[in-house]
Amino acid sequence: MAIVEMELDVADGVRVCGYEHIDGGHAFEVEWELPDECVCEKCHRRQRVRLEWGRRMQVVRDLDVWGQPGFLVYQPPFHRCGWCRHRQWLLPPFKRKHVTVTYRFEEQVLRMMIGSTEEEVARRLGISAEMVRLILKHRLQEERQIDPQRVITDVGLDEISLKKRHKLYATILSDLTDPKQPRILAVAPGRDQAAAETCLKRLSEPQRAQVRNHRTDMSPAYTAAGEALLPHSQQVVDRFHVAKKLGEVVDRVRKKDACLQKEAVCEREETVPLADVGFPQTAAGPDGRGARAPGEAVRADSRPVPAVLFPLGGHGPL
Ligand SMILES: [Zn+2]
Repeated sequence: MAIVEMELDVADGVRVCGYEHIDGGHAFEVEWELPDECVCEKCHRRQRVRLEWGRRMQVVRDLDVWGQPGFLVYQPPFHRCGWCRHRQWLLPPFKRKHVTVTYRFEEQVLRMMIGSTEEEVARRLGISAEMVRLILKHRLQEERQIDPQRVITDVGLDEISLKKRHKLYATILSDLTDPKQPRILAVAPGRDQAAAETCLKRLSEPQRAQVRNHRTDMSPAYTAAGEALLPHSQQVVDRFHVAKKLGEVVDRVRKKDACLQKEAVCEREETVPLADVGFPQTAAGPDGRGARAPGEAVRADSRPVPAVLFPLGGHGPL
């Protein structure tokens, strides 16, 4: 029998009081400090908390632990108003009302949305695409203020998009001061200069003056927002964005190349029978999966030439 210790990062005031390894995941039973007083949501009277406990345990998705999903589990406490008998939940500090994920899980979802799609993020996290959209919607609705004491020297501006059904773009401002722990500071609808400025204006003026570097893609909108609102900051084109840009360039070159190859192949088709270069001849014509001469795989993904279509590691254009 071995004891395995696990370091967990929990919100201030939250205590882990139980653990269970469930099928393919980790469930942590938590409790937190409850307030002595509260204001009734219905009659708005301030009063001492009259505590009652809900019977059904609540399960909230949290960050992964050791590559498996983590969940926070708790018995929900509520307050019963002494005046109007209205019952209200005493919300835990780690999540918002009416959702079953923690704030930091929401943040992880938004970060993963950078350079990805909602389906992909949903698939990787094992949640629904609907949940991804809901998380972004909640974040866009809130006007969370950034702590003016926070020292921020590096920020990033990124675009995310929800493409399915409703085309929706948003701009995310992240704090990259500690590169190991990027934090999302603000989210605003749109991907234009106004959206970037809305995000940057959540920082106080002295905070904006402290920023030394801002990482963005090559979008002129973000460049303009940086110039307008970050007086002492240098724009850095982020490695990720450079990679994306390079990918686009490679794509363009490849497309051009594909056109050239098309000509070359057409030329060859006139002179050399396909069977001679190793393509199986079937009634439907060459299916592109047969043997081929060395070097032919170079044209693997050039769409315009069906005769040389070839699935590249399962992601080919088939
Ligand atoms: Zn009341």
